[in-house]
Amino acid sequence: MKHTTTWNERYAASLMNTFGAPALVLAEGEGARVRDTEGREYLDLLGGIAVNVIGHAHPLVAQAIAGQAQTLGHVSNFFATPPQIGLAEKLLDIVEPGGAPEGSRVFLANSGAEANEAALKIVKAHGLAISPTKTRILALEHAFHGRTLGALSLTWKEAYRAPFAPLIPGVEFIPVNDIAALEAAMDEDVAGIFIEPIQGEAGVLPVEAACLQAVRELTASHGALMVIDEVQTGVGRTGEWMGHHASGVVPDVVTLAKGLGGGMPIGACIGLGGAAKVLGPGMHGTTFGGNPICAAAALAVLKVIEDEGLLAKVKRTSEQWRSELARVEGVREVRGRGYLIGIDFDARIAAGVVAAGREAGFILNATGPSTLRLAPPLILTADDARSFTRALPSLIAAAQETQ
Ligand SMILES: *Cc1c(COP(=O)(O)O)cnc(C)c1O
Repeated sequence: MKHTTTWNERYAASLMNTFGAPALVLAEGEGARVRDTEGREYLDLLGGIAVNVIGHAHPLVAQAIAGQAQTLGHVSNFFATPPQIGLAEKLLDIVEPGGAPEGSRVFLANSGAEANEAALKIVKAHGLAISPTKTRILALEHAFHGRTLGALSLTWKEAYRAPFAPLIPGVEFIPVNDIAALEAAMDEDVAGIFIEPIQGEAGVLPVEAACLQAVRELTASHGALMVIDEVQTGVGRTGEWMGHHASGVVPDVVTLAKGLGGGMPIGACIGLGGAAKVLGPGMHGTTFGGNPICAAAALAVLKVIEDEGLLAKVKRTSEQWRSELARVEGVREVRGRGYLIGIDFDARIAAGVVAAGREAGFILNATGPSTLRLAPPLILTADDARSFTRALPSLIAAAQETQ
């Protein structure tokens, strides 16, 4: 215990207190499991917040990272590298079911917020190129698009926004799945709409296919761009390459990050068709974006997902898992698709379930007082999933006791 205390003290004395006290100090991982500095093992049902799609320390990703680091680690964007180009090509293959439309192009960034910053610049420049008043931007209530000031302007939660006001002007929030409100909000001055297929940070709230389809129709008829934020839902999370594939909608811009590098920091803003031409030379940039080590890691991640047939496996396993979770006493609702699962309890016990889970060897995450979010590695087996479902009644009981 003393050792952990020391790490916690050193953390508190050296890191800015933006995340609160860390729940654990983790030292190593393998597959869907991690171990803390005390050697205790946990089944990781959070996956680094939807990041570790093929688990921890995957040998092929480790090899790709090490191999690229030993070859060429960074060059700046004055130059290109084979992994950067290979990754962009691969993303264009998978971003839409039949491949990206003609003219589509990729901007590589380092995080989800930065991918959305690039998308925001595309939306703004697109609007201003048409008219000086085409500056309205719509986002959804409960939306989360990141913490940089631009992405934060598109993020709904007041507690995140208030300390930094005023944010970027022109952003308006409309209710989720409310097509009438969407129609009422649209006019020729809307430059673009940002939308998540499933609102992950908000507690895994699915956006209906009909809503995505309405956004597509209304943006197209008003000359506005549709941006789908796939930072959490992309890269196989839902059992499809992208969360929006199930809706049949083809947006103008798709942003990716979290799962893309399997743990390496990388993001992507993909312009589909005409939206790919909005940013020209000098209009945007980044020092690290497209870094060959991160790009090589991402290529390895995408290859493992394909070679191991993880999309079909996630679809198969998750349906069964969700229906078993829904039958647990004390569970009010189970939402989501694939391995992005929201569990609502009858009572405000989510924090207690997370704490009891930690004691029992599960890494869990609460997005609200009565809501858990599971975003485990896509390699999580049906047996591992079931081990959590079996443990859940006792975690709920422990949480109710300590309430
Ligand atoms: C996590 C997340 C972001 C922000 O990504 P960062 O890498 O933390 O900047 C943006 N959008 C969605 C939907 C996310 O889940």
